[in-house]
Amino acid sequence: MTQDRGKWLDDAMPETRAIRAGICRTSEGEHSEPIFTTSSYIFDSAEDAAARFSGDSEAQGSNVYSRYTNPTVRGFCQRLAALEGGEACEATASGMAAILSVCMTFLHTGDHIICSRDVFGSTLGLFEKYLSKFGIDISFVPLNNTEAWRHAVKPTTRLLYCETPSNPLCEIADIAGLSGIAREAGARLVVDNCFCTPVLQQPLKHGADIIIHSATKYLDGQGRVMGGAVVGNAADMAEVNSFLRTCGPTMSSFNAWVFLKGLETLSLRMHAHSHNAQTLAEWLQEQSPVSRVHYCGLPDHPGYDIACRQQSGFGGVLSFELAGGQAQAWRFINATQMLSLTANLGDAKSTIVHPATTTHGRLSSEQRQAAGISSGLIRIAVGLEHISDIQQDCVRAFNAL
Ligand SMILES: *Cc1c(COP(=O)(O)O)cnc(C)c1O
Repeated sequence: MTQDRGKWLDDAMPETRAIRAGICRTSEGEHSEPIFTTSSYIFDSAEDAAARFSGDSEAQGSNVYSRYTNPTVRGFCQRLAALEGGEACEATASGMAAILSVCMTFLHTGDHIICSRDVFGSTLGLFEKYLSKFGIDISFVPLNNTEAWRHAVKPTTRLLYCETPSNPLCEIADIAGLSGIAREAGARLVVDNCFCTPVLQQPLKHGADIIIHSATKYLDGQGRVMGGAVVGNAADMAEVNSFLRTCGPTMSSFNAWVFLKGLETLSLRMHAHSHNAQTLAEWLQEQSPVSRVHYCGLPDHPGYDIACRQQSGFGGVLSFELAGGQAQAWRFINATQMLSLTANLGDAKSTIVHPATTTHGRLSSEQRQAAGISSGLIRIAVGLEHISDIQQDCVRAFNAL
């Protein structure tokens, strides 16, 4: 097999790396990346089998079993690592499996996590319901209040965990600021980079230690398959790899292939998502039933300045509030015809959802209030349809109020 990975690739632009990194060409000379649908691999001899199992340095990196390594999955990992500017990447069965793998790899009983208050619902569930069973202590702080993170540090703090921009209010964390706090505390800063992808934000460059991806979202980009990834330095990723190959939440080769194809167009798509979202956010601000628009690309958004500094685009997710509360929000949603009523995001198809009764429905009303999720709030993950059609669907919904 010949590898399309020479020195030129390290100097190539991100758009090029998204298409050319991680190609593993077989002796058949295929141009498109192959899907290796095999659970195990043939050894040349009994001696070779023994060497590969022993982890012999010459046999290292060779394939034994697809829970350990798979060429298609490896291609995806190399491509994503190249885009994030990370030394190594590990692929997982879902975004949640990526988060679980980081926790299982780096935490012990008695350790402490500081986490932003408005993380993804299942992340909250993982921390509160499952990690707590093993004596891991969690503090929740407001994402954009760096001082609150500093005050939450304990001698046992091992992870600082955040998502930026946040869902659905598009709040922004100061990654460099949090990185300084993590360093002083001897902890790792973990950033879920799902909303921006490496096209719009590269957290490692701002001092993050580990990046989490739900590849299910923008990396696929067309809502087809589940997957996740962890990116970081080689030593940390070797430890994550050890957890994955032992415990098994690994990515399937077919899904890795879908993500390889998705990455080829990631840059084009992320800029198009951002452009559509910016246009829609500015237009929504002018509509009289709308009391507030939350999008980090609007200059009056509290996270705008940091977003300008740390991102090269504002992403595809926005939310807005209708003064008429839940009844009006539901009427709006039910009157749309094109927007898909689904909780997913990161799809070419625009999606619409009512966070207070779906994605954030499990929170108590006090928790929702603290998180700023009002009953009139609507989230749109802006897709790639023509912006005039997205606006037209909203016009239909405004007319029904
Ligand atoms: C969807 C999502 C996850 C979880 O990913 P899955 O692939 O659904 O397991 C984690 N973080 C964020 C920000 C997400 O949007």
